[in-house]
Amino acid sequence: MILDRFDRPLRSLRVSVTDRCNLRCQYCMPEADYVWLPRDNVLTFEEIGRIVDAFTETGVDRVRITGGEPLLRRDLPRLVEALAARSAIKDLALTTNGVLLRQQASTLKRAGLHRVTVSLDTLDPQRFAVLTRFDEHRAVLAGIDAAAAAGFQSLKIDSVVIRGVNEGELAALLEYGRRVGAEVRFIEYMDVGGATRWTPEAVVSRREMLSALESRFGAIVPIAEETSAPADRYALPDGTTFGIISSTTEPFCVSCDRSRLTADGMWLMCLYAKAGTDLRRPLRAGATREELVRLISRMWSLRADRGAEERLASARRQPLITLAALKKDAHLEMHTRGG
Ligand code: SF4
Repeated sequence: MILDRFDRPLRSLRVSVTDRCNLRCQYCMPEADYVWLPRDNVLTFEEIGRIVDAFTETGVDRVRITGGEPLLRRDLPRLVEALAARSAIKDLALTTNGVLLRQQASTLKRAGLHRVTVSLDTLDPQRFAVLTRFDEHRAVLAGIDAAAAAGFQSLKIDSVVIRGVNEGELAALLEYGRRVGAEVRFIEYMDVGGATRWTPEAVVSRREMLSALESRFGAIVPIAEETSAPADRYALPDGTTFGIISSTTEPFCVSCDRSRLTADGMWLMCLYAKAGTDLRRPLRAGATREELVRLISRMWSLRADRGAEERLASARRQPLITLAALKKDAHLEMHTRGG
C-alpha cells in the first residue's frame, strides 16, 4: 500500500467519463458558456480500463463514475460491465444528476453497478428550474424511482444546501428520502473551482443543519463509524439515517484517500488541486502498466494536499479560482473533476 506524506493510503478513484452536463447548477456551472475538453483527448473505455488497472495495483478498490453528467456518455453500461468484472474493485458506484436515469437504471444494474447517488437539491420544481436552468425535476424524480425499482444495494441522494435557496427543505428532503428508500446526504456549499457565485454567507454549516433538523425531529444521534467516507452519518429518533458532508466548515482531509481522473486522463490528488498529473500522454505513448503504477505510486507518495483545510485557514475566503483562470484551463472546473 502506498502512503502519502500524511500517511493516507490511495483507496478511492473517481473517474469522470465526460465534462459535459445537461444541467447548469448554480453552485457548479453558473456561467453562460464553457470551454470543453477537446473530444480527441477524451479517454476511450479501453484506456480508462487500463488506467484503472494501474490504480487497483496501487491499492484502489473503490471506483466511482462521475462527470459532468456520466449518463451523457454513450454506451456507459459497457464501461460499467468492464469495471464490474474486475475483482479488485470492491465498490463500483455512480454519481448522476438523475435526468437520464429512468432510461438507464435497470441496464446499469444488470451491467454490474453496485451503488447510485443522485444529486437532488430541492423538491420544488420551480426552484429546481431556477437552480439548474432546466425544467427536468420530474425526470430526476422518475430516475430516482427507477433506481429504487432496479434494486441497487444502496441509493443515496446528495443535496447541496445553500442559504436563501433550499435551507428550508432539509426536513422535506429527509422525508422524501425515507419514502423512496434513499439515504440523504446534505453537502455544505463549497468554494471549489467553478463555484464562481460562492460567498461565505451562503454556506449553511453542519451545525446549523443539525440544529434545524433537531428542532423538527427531536434528538439526533451521531453514528460512530470507522470509515474514510466524506459524510458523517446521523440517525433521527425514528431510526432514519442521513449524512452531512461538511467540507467547508469542518474538513476531513486527514482521512482523505480519494483522487480524481478527468475524462481526458488528468489525475488530480485533491478536489482543490490547481494542477494534476497527465496520465493520457504516457498511456498513449505506450507506457506499460508497470510504468503507470510507478508513476502513480511516486506522485501519491509526494502528496501533501489538504485543500479544504487550507481553505478553512485562509483569512478572506472567496471563490477559489477566478472566472478568467477557469476560461483558460477547463481542468480547474469542478464539473471537469467530477465534484
Ligand atoms: S480537500 Fe482535498 S484532501 Fe481534503 S478531503 Fe477534499 S479532496 Fe481530500
